[in-house]
Amino acid sequence: MSERGVERRQFGHRAELALSPVQCAKLDAQAHAARAMWNQLHDLWLMTPKCQRSLARLDQTLRQARKDFDWYAVLPAQAAQAVLKTYLQAWKNCWEGRAEGPHFKTRHRTALTVDIPQGRDLNISRVHRRWGMVNIPKLGRVRFRWTRDLPVGRHADTANRITGARLVRDDLGWHIAFRVQTLEPAPAPHPGPEVGIDVGVTVALALSDGNHHRHGAWLTDTEQATLLRLERRAAGRKAHRKPGTRTSRRLHHTYDRIHGLRARAKRRHQDWQHQTTTRIAATYGTVVVEQLQITNMVKSAKGTLERPGTNVAQKSGLNRAISSEAWGRTVTMLAYKTTRHGGTLHKVPAPGTSRRCSHCQATTPGSRESQALFVCKNPGCGWTGNADHNAARNILHLYRTGHALVPAAGRAVARRARRVKPTGASQAGNSPR
Ligand SMILES: [Zn+2]
Repeated sequence: MSERGVERRQFGHRAELALSPVQCAKLDAQAHAARAMWNQLHDLWLMTPKCQRSLARLDQTLRQARKDFDWYAVLPAQAAQAVLKTYLQAWKNCWEGRAEGPHFKTRHRTALTVDIPQGRDLNISRVHRRWGMVNIPKLGRVRFRWTRDLPVGRHADTANRITGARLVRDDLGWHIAFRVQTLEPAPAPHPGPEVGIDVGVTVALALSDGNHHRHGAWLTDTEQATLLRLERRAAGRKAHRKPGTRTSRRLHHTYDRIHGLRARAKRRHQDWQHQTTTRIAATYGTVVVEQLQITNMVKSAKGTLERPGTNVAQKSGLNRAISSEAWGRTVTMLAYKTTRHGGTLHKVPAPGTSRRCSHCQATTPGSRESQALFVCKNPGCGWTGNADHNAARNILHLYRTGHALVPAAGRAVARRARRVKPTGASQAGNSPR
């Protein structure tokens, strides 16, 4: 027994499912039933007066609906209960300020999911070096890709086990996401150095110690050319379609191929992110990043009619879309990976880090000569360096001078400065007498 003790860890593990076309269609039907059920619950919730909303009422409607409509019955009862639970959780997340309230789920833009809430129903076994088998309700035994050791069979006990799963469909097909719970020795504090990280323009991730992490294009030249051709073809077909007519089967097929290629690019990007963040978390004890500014990212690049945006084409491209959503994911990965390695992740407020000089701390106009080069225009300084590294050094400096944000209700907020009033002043000024 180590003196540091053990800690419970919960994480997800995603694996590819090997399904036949018939099984795929069955799962699609289940997922659409779950989606319809969500919409019915939401509809009911909105129609019911506030004082009459209750779990019992929703549950009763759900049971009745499963009796009334045949196509609801394709969804296993456990999965239907999970829809109700997720729906109520969505409201809870909204009330506690973590997310927006639930919306209706549209047919085309919603991720298809089916829950298997109970781990014991899964009955997982390993049948080959690279394949495992899992029970899926109403589908039977299905193979999945075995890429990491899971606590199943004789490796499972009350502390180390799989507590449930969710089936998720993306553009590359159906996957299973296992909920895994393990008991592991708590990590020792990481002795590694401190580092600030900035999302660079010339390099993907710039580190304050002068290192950086780059990546190439996510699609090969051939794939890029295919994607461009498909996108043009889809645009052409869409333009020639008479308004009000149904989207043709051929156009749907083209859309599917476009989505497939985009999903492939995203998958490669995620793989790179996982490798990079693991390396960073293993090397550094304290990692400092910028606080993500969600409002800026959601804002349209097009701007408004009175004040149109600049570089709209560059900002709205595929790569831009991937990279802007990617930073949030990088931070999420860093957060849990640093914890697992015994390190810590800190966030600092973003404004000005790319314009300030990291040597003299002065913000002088024109210092950022180009995207890549930073030359300090402050007379008496004149520091020159890579602009991205300059920003990363500023981020680390903000942390060292005590500007780190503290997490509150799921969001990082500015730490209130601890100002101790001189005793004499408070007695003289604030006395109620
Ligand atoms: Zn300077």
